Amino acid sequence: MVQVVDVARMARWIADSGAEARIAGIAAAIEADFVEWERFDKRPRTAHHSKDGVIELMPTSNGELYAVKYVNGHPINPGRGLQTVVGFGVLSDVATGYPLLISEMTMLTALRTAATSAMAAKYLARRDATRMALIGTGSQSEFQALGFRALLGINDLSLWDTDPAALAKAERNLRSLGFEVRVASGAADATEGADIVTTCTADKALATVLTESMVRPGMHLNAIGGDCPGKTELETSILRRSSIFVEYEPQTREEGEIQHLPEDHPVTELWRVIRRETPGRRSEEEITIFDSVGFAIEDFSALRYVRDSLDADVADLDLLVSPADPKDLFSLVARTAPVVA
Ligand code: NAD
Repeated sequence: MVQVVDVARMARWIADSGAEARIAGIAAAIEADFVEWERFDKRPRTAHHSKDGVIELMPTSNGELYAVKYVNGHPINPGRGLQTVVGFGVLSDVATGYPLLISEMTMLTALRTAATSAMAAKYLARRDATRMALIGTGSQSEFQALGFRALLGINDLSLWDTDPAALAKAERNLRSLGFEVRVASGAADATEGADIVTTCTADKALATVLTESMVRPGMHLNAIGGDCPGKTELETSILRRSSIFVEYEPQTREEGEIQHLPEDHPVTELWRVIRRETPGRRSEEEITIFDSVGFAIEDFSALRYVRDSLDADVADLDLLVSPADPKDLFSLVARTAPVVA
């Protein structure tokens, strides 16, 4: 039997402890797995690009457990009443190859992305950071805000989105969560006085959501919306002024903001900072960028954490055959096959 976490079960699992606590739990799981970096089988995700979006498969294993996530990215979807990003994933036992858990991963991706962003900011943002600008207030935005409050205590937000309805939605949701919220009149206004800037916009384009004039010394930029070839958010000159941190360099070179830079432009993988092999932020004036694209180990950690913290009340799916004789798979068919005279 395979444990199944469907949309309703995932929503209940999040509500049981609250999204903030779940994000903190996933962040701890990701951090623990990043420390074990060499144990993991790593490769850039497999991406199938089409005119309006991308479908991706994200596998990894630590030798004991294997995980794979199916996820899409279709920025035009909200215009037809659909999510930009949906996903589901599988956690399996490497020893037998049998799947253990199948889970919805749309909400779980939002939690794990927020967990990764906040975990990175813990090492990269200034310690006295209190205010964050959130640019792009769609599906990911509230989760991002909760992640930064859970791990860094950030409670002051300025918001900007080109869609007034998305802006009003985020303002309503975030105020009801107890955040101090200022609705900005544009991206430049949103970044005014911000210590951290999160860009989580969706556009299948080389967009310039953040220009150089909006970026001041000491800022930390958490750029999560540039995550595909030809889909970025930052003016390239910002990258040249900043220290850049990535998840897994071979994947980010193809998909992240750094696709605009030469292959030899220096970047630091985050696990090295977590393991204290290299410093994160080096000075109060440094501009740091987390060039986030989303990496398979984060999904692995999230699925592992979900499985470890589920109570007994989980549905099982009869997905795996178990004939009495393992070599007699046909016995299952013979029972139901019509008898031909
Ligand atoms: P969404 O479509 O729900 O929200 C995106 C918002 O960005 C929309 O409200 C849109 O109006 C706004 N927007 C677009 N262009 C803008 C601009 N120039 N200025 C201001 N706002 C703008 O999408 P989502 O699910 O919230 O995802 C946001 C982005 O994050 C997507 O690009 C997605 O691919 C990416 N993402 C990255 C990761 C990661 O791990 N790095 C994980 C999940 C999603």
